[in-house]
Amino acid sequence: MTETKRFGYKKPKYRYGNSIRDYFTGNSWDHTEPAYRVGPHVWNVGGNDDVAVYLLDTGEGLMLIDSGYEQSVYLVVDRIYSIGFKPQDIRKILLSHWHGDHTQGARLLQELAGGREKCEIWLSREDEAMHQKTAMNTKPFSVLPYEVTNFYDDNTPVKMGRFTIRTKLCPGHTLGVTSFFFEDTDEETGETVRMAMHGGMGTGTMYPGSAMGKSEEVTPEIAFRFVKDCLEMAEWPVDINMSSHLNQTNVDENMPEDLNNWRWFIADYSWHDMLVNRAEDVMEKYPEQYPDFKWTVPNIQ
Ligand SMILES: [Zn+2]
Repeated sequence: MTETKRFGYKKPKYRYGNSIRDYFTGNSWDHTEPAYRVGPHVWNVGGNDDVAVYLLDTGEGLMLIDSGYEQSVYLVVDRIYSIGFKPQDIRKILLSHWHGDHTQGARLLQELAGGREKCEIWLSREDEAMHQKTAMNTKPFSVLPYEVTNFYDDNTPVKMGRFTIRTKLCPGHTLGVTSFFFEDTDEETGETVRMAMHGGMGTGTMYPGSAMGKSEEVTPEIAFRFVKDCLEMAEWPVDINMSSHLNQTNVDENMPEDLNNWRWFIADYSWHDMLVNRAEDVMEKYPEQYPDFKWTVPNIQ
């Protein structure tokens, strides 16, 4: 069974944000990706092999999930045009968490779409607090100024056109990580697929004594909640796992030949395996809490 699995967790590529040297001097143009379709009306237009920017064609304007780096925004703009859409039609930008690799593009794309009158920016209240605290931070995870116009409420889905997006607060990577769940239907065949994006799978902030975890105010209790949430959500039926970083499902090395072939991404194990792998990565670091720990879904080497 294992050998037929295309998608699995692989160590991050650290293209942009996590290494200062790469961030300031790396050649982002050496690590580009074309736009590729992951669902009937969903594409990754991030344009790079590190962080995803998902475009949803709602039929009543465009919605983005995350916005990528400042330095790769030109790729996002190009990829949106390349699949026949216009960035001017973006009406909502849903951010998974406050970190710069997901949010730096938000203000730039919002301006391109006509400013805040035309284009909303969504974030959790928890991460907006962190965003405000660190708004002047110019370290590698720097955030460009952006103003949040809407906050998620997990009891009220975000609706636009054909999409109804349920959100779920998933603290761990940051206190305000938000995950997204929705269905998408292919009009030609009538086929409906269940899609999901977990907003923060980076476990480093949850390691005991992690400096980044401290600055994010992530406690061991939050780490244990992350583990519990992941193991619970892993059982939820998801047909297409939209990983927020490409390494989380090893997409870069598993691109479909036909970039329009979204069915390539239907894999009932992918969501489950990613969440269990990330939970186990945290569990391994807390042997007192998880004395019987054993890896069941290890990283892809
Ligand atoms: Zn992050």
